[in-house]
Amino acid sequence: MAGSFDVVVIGGGPGGYAAAIRCAQKKASVALVEKGDMGGTCLNSGCIPSKALLGSAHFLTLARHANLMGLEIGGVKPNWAKMQSRKDAIVMGFRKGVTGLVQSNKIKLFEGTGVVAAPGKVRVESQSGALEIAAKSIVLATGSVPIEIPAFAFDRRTIISSAEALSLAAIPESMVIIGGGVIGCEMACIYATVGCKVTIIEALDSLLPNEDAWVGKLIAKELKKLGIQSMVGQKVTAVDVAGGRAKVLLESATVLEAEKVLVAVGRRAVCDKETVDALGLEMNGPAIAVNEKMETNAPGVYAIGDCVGTTYLAHGAFMEAEIAAANACGEDEKMGEYNLVPRAVYTFPEVASVGASEKKCAEMGIETCVGIANFRSNGRSVAHNEGIGEVRVIRNTADDKIMGVTMVGATVTEMIAAARALIGSTEKITDVSFAHPTVSEVLKEAWEDAFGISLHIPPRHS
Ligand code: NAD
Repeated sequence: MAGSFDVVVIGGGPGGYAAAIRCAQKKASVALVEKGDMGGTCLNSGCIPSKALLGSAHFLTLARHANLMGLEIGGVKPNWAKMQSRKDAIVMGFRKGVTGLVQSNKIKLFEGTGVVAAPGKVRVESQSGALEIAAKSIVLATGSVPIEIPAFAFDRRTIISSAEALSLAAIPESMVIIGGGVIGCEMACIYATVGCKVTIIEALDSLLPNEDAWVGKLIAKELKKLGIQSMVGQKVTAVDVAGGRAKVLLESATVLEAEKVLVAVGRRAVCDKETVDALGLEMNGPAIAVNEKMETNAPGVYAIGDCVGTTYLAHGAFMEAEIAAANACGEDEKMGEYNLVPRAVYTFPEVASVGASEKKCAEMGIETCVGIANFRSNGRSVAHNEGIGEVRVIRNTADDKIMGVTMVGATVTEMIAAARALIGSTEKITDVSFAHPTVSEVLKEAWEDAFGISLHIPPRHS
């Protein structure tokens, strides 16, 4: 036995490392097992590298619009190799940072694949052999992988997943993106901005179909300005690859040709079969079933993050890590409302939402009054040439409770935490001072409008 710990965490992504650090802060002895790079999908092939490339692409867009700001800048163009090395340096820096943070909390790091061989026993397999560690509690945080569709399985060269799309050697001349969800729309913004001809194929009837229809429509309109073609309500039946080019066949018999095909149709939870069998884990399809304490059906075994298939969001995993860590350390905590975990999409412009959408409220039979305020009426947004988009605040007319907030605009991902905090607050919106002039005043205006009391919007609700 190579050691015995109060808590062994398997997986070093946002869920796993957060759970490990919290347990260590609560004075537990903790081991963390990671088979790849610290930081998981989020840091190495998800949130951070995509935001690094989006950061460069956004800067390029701003520079191209310089004349609208009264500036003359000539000859701005992307240097893909430098965009890639900048992205890699950012990832490397955070990877070192997270590793250092884990070590500074005196967490024992094991490099290798963690498998639960029996209750309380974790086997770590690596190139240098296998060792076994004992655990009083185990936290499974084994993540997810991109969903693969057999009719167009990844070949990792022409038919690629988001992981390869973040590290292409050169800007392709054209790309078809299958799936107009979060990854599809973000990747489309990156590639279209640097000069690739992008077409998105979405099976449902709008882009970002999890949000209200106005969001998808507005995003499709804005993506079109970047040269992105969106084909919604269309299914891909097959992709043929020959000579390094793809022919994408749609159900409608349309054929599209492209240099790359990015398949972004969702992610699938991952947990190895031996662990599932050894613990007799109850599953929800590929995801590990957990209760609101993040407990699996196996005593002392918790599961969090993408492997439980709840949010597929890093900050969702952070929330679940808090709960699992508290319970693994003898406390009694339960997950709050998943609905209040914000959703953020880093397109140009951005999308962010929290709580229930208008369509969800309608499905629940809730009568609502929707406050709307737009960015083109906001001083700072106009000053920054960022007048596209609006904020909608959804009020339940029966009890005046705010059910949800949805925003589209240049920097709304930075405003969604304020919306979340306001939903949880008992303060009256008119008592909350928003600095002027700021972009976030649009949130206040929309919130007030949901009650028919916006200062800067003419009366329009009865
Ligand atoms: P997603 O669920 O957001 O979107 C997948 C889309 O593909 C859906 O709109 C779906 O209707 C469509 N689709 C499915 N099968 C199709 C087919 N055969 N043809 C055409 N369209 C099809 O999934 P994703 O974009 O792959 O992202 C995976 C996960 O990662 C998501 O849960 C997402 O929330 C998370 N993620 C989050 C962020 C962020 O928070 N900014 C960024 C990237 C990924």
